[in-house]
Amino acid sequence: MSLLMIPGPIEVSPAVIEAGSGKPPGHLAADFIEAFGHSLEQMRVIWKASADSQPFLVAGSGTLAMEIAATNVVDPGEPVVVVQTGWFSDRMAEMARRRGARVTVVESPAGETPSLDDIAAAMTKTRAKVLFATHVDTSTGVRCDAAAYAALATEHGALSVFDGVCATAAERFDMESWGADIYLTGSQKAIGLPAGLALLVASPRALAKRSRLAVAPPMTMDFESWLPIMKSYEARGKGYFATPATSLVKALPVAFGELLSEDGIDGCFARHQRGADAFRAAWSAMGLSLVASRPELAANTLSAVRYPEGVGPSLVGRIAERGVVVAGGLHPDIKTEYFRVGHMGDVLRRPDALETTVRAIADALTAEGHATDADAAWKAFCDVFER
Ligand code: PMP
Repeated sequence: MSLLMIPGPIEVSPAVIEAGSGKPPGHLAADFIEAFGHSLEQMRVIWKASADSQPFLVAGSGTLAMEIAATNVVDPGEPVVVVQTGWFSDRMAEMARRRGARVTVVESPAGETPSLDDIAAAMTKTRAKVLFATHVDTSTGVRCDAAAYAALATEHGALSVFDGVCATAAERFDMESWGADIYLTGSQKAIGLPAGLALLVASPRALAKRSRLAVAPPMTMDFESWLPIMKSYEARGKGYFATPATSLVKALPVAFGELLSEDGIDGCFARHQRGADAFRAAWSAMGLSLVASRPELAANTLSAVRYPEGVGPSLVGRIAERGVVVAGGLHPDIKTEYFRVGHMGDVLRRPDALETTVRAIADALTAEGHATDADAAWKAFCDVFER
């Protein structure tokens, strides 16, 4: 079986696979209720969210979590600002448009983020009620300055919503102290589960905004449809609005346990930082550069790596021939100029998988005409990873 090194879905640990397999539990079974309630509590820990914030856990993808956010804090006709750092920000903007919001997109070229001044100017000019941003844009490997954006939104009396699908649990995020209002993700990336769960935490301000909306969100996305269910499960009671993804929820405490097992969530952020730094050392040793235009923008969850001179998208197939699946480019402006490698979750505890990845990429580069020393690349990786 090939090694799945795309930026999600990711390789899932054997313990998580084991926990999610077997007879699916009923949604009202005692052990299922315990798994659900415990997971909601752990979400506050992983999100670094306040005790009065509200976690939501529903069946669906990251895209559903985005749309839940877009429909619960925006009324039709309201002005919002979307910070554009790649392909997924465009999706967020389109969702807000379909909700009827007046959307201003603050743009940036691929590999960049807009300046804080430009975002602030757009917030002031439009009197935006919500600021949307993508914590890590999976199309460019760019991480935005979520702390600064959340502070900016607060200064402007606006809410802030962050798409953390390619970031949550791996990139530092401090929902409470940064004052962010919604942080959302899907289960198939750094959370370490198969795809199928949409997870988000909402601040009391976000919940209050929902209760003031003139136009209710569609029922399946409405905070108010789900609130009684979440509260009931957390109190270890029964609840039903729509059937949860029971097998996935059963595995979630195991995945969360793995995330928190070394020095809690801060240890998990540090593990991803170290893994990403090691991959970056390997890219340098291979003579490759990143799409992210500055080191501080480079995400810790994936690398978006430019093809060297004379090499193109056929590299992805060459790497696959060596047993490692990586992803091609996604951002429409530079799609054929780069490839993407995910480095989240369980693989960071599997040196064999990391070595296979580095060597497969180095050998594939050589096969495509960019002579690369695989031993030197792996040594550069280890020098950082084992530090
Ligand atoms: N946002 C980001 C940043 C993503 O990376 C993805 C998935 N690649 C999504 C949203 C959409 O998530 P899903 O595919 O689970 O719907």
